[in-house]
Amino acid sequence: MGDLKAALPVVLDLTGRLVAVFGGGPVTGRRLRTFLDEGALVRLVSPWICEEVHDLMVEHPERVTWLQRDYAGPTDLDEAWLVHTATGDPDVDSTVSADAAGRRLWCIDATDSRGTAASIPARTQVSTPDGTVTVAVHAGGDPVLSTTVRDGIDLALRSGGLDLRRHRPRTSGWVALVGGGPGADGLLTARGHELLASADVVVVDRLAPRGVVSRLPESVRIIDVGKTPGHHPVPQDRINAILVEEAERGHGVVRLKGGDPYVLGRGGEERLACEAHGIPVEVVPGVTSAVSVPAAAGIPLTHRGVAKAFTVVSGHEQIPTLPPGSDHTLVLLMGVSTLRDSANSLVAEGRSSDCPVAIIERGFLPTQRVTIGTLGDIADVALFRGVESPAVVVVGDVVRLAHDPR
Ligand code: SAH
Repeated sequence: MGDLKAALPVVLDLTGRLVAVFGGGPVTGRRLRTFLDEGALVRLVSPWICEEVHDLMVEHPERVTWLQRDYAGPTDLDEAWLVHTATGDPDVDSTVSADAAGRRLWCIDATDSRGTAASIPARTQVSTPDGTVTVAVHAGGDPVLSTTVRDGIDLALRSGGLDLRRHRPRTSGWVALVGGGPGADGLLTARGHELLASADVVVVDRLAPRGVVSRLPESVRIIDVGKTPGHHPVPQDRINAILVEEAERGHGVVRLKGGDPYVLGRGGEERLACEAHGIPVEVVPGVTSAVSVPAAAGIPLTHRGVAKAFTVVSGHEQIPTLPPGSDHTLVLLMGVSTLRDSANSLVAEGRSSDCPVAIIERGFLPTQRVTIGTLGDIADVALFRGVESPAVVVVGDVVRLAHDPR
């Protein structure tokens, strides 16, 4: 049965306040870190200290004072706001506790998890666009139960399982440019999921992870600004304006993009547009298709003895002069329609027409397909196979490391 011991959670601001700490072992080490993270000053009384405590003292010499001796009586509690005792000797700990009580001081007795006057709950902090949330769980002194519950709440907050959307004042809208990765749900970052859990409006690209979008609650407005090659339904200026307008209405806006926002993704433009209107913007990196889609086909962009460097280029641009050897990997994004020109110009610049080329269509999606050829024949092979965008083109010897192409 659960115990009925009174347990009122209180939030303490320890900044600049003295905590008297007794004992120098690993339990103290963990708590010392907590107190220091909270900005406390610490006076540590212990004849010896473990390595973790030592390291923390070295890290924060100005905030930790070590008195190398045993507990010497109530004067050791002078000036403290809070007491922590974990000497390893239950008698000493209960003496410290009793002396603290005599001075009306709250004392955390680490050896007496149920009898102690004060205790630190299992905690976690999650930063949301509306502020940092601290979750504290106390389970009658049962540390396993409290950490299990804490972990469950933490997961719900971070995974987006706990819906944090709420009415915001008009002045507190925000925009987050979130890199969605190459399309597989699992390749969206934890921070991306956290922000989606707070978003009122999600502005999506064609290549953003659709599974994640489809699971958003119905109350979330989805604005699809997806572009298909050669067809731009929503011009960039209009996308920028949508972000600004929605945030100015007080909405939390996630701009969910394919890959990484800053890799051929116009993330910089969108950030500047928001900042020009004084809107707070967070940019969350994503797993770029330039690196991950080749990986989905088993192709590492660098490999010891095969390639040491790579260049990422948009197929819409003139290919810049590159080292001609096929030990320098070239990655083309948006490169399907211009494939023939790109292959010809690479050969004209000195690459061998035998240089291997892979095209990975729809990386990480169930319909992923890999086409392999050489600079000399890839354009014809791609035409024959009906290769379509979105696809990543990889040129270089690393292509030989690809998994069996389908
Ligand atoms: N910011 C994105 C790139 C946007 S440009 C990123 O970092 O990944 C769009 C191009 O990305 C597409 O034309 C294609 O070349 C590539 N691409 C994105 N996702 C892809 C996927 N799942 N499979 C194949 N290519 C992809």
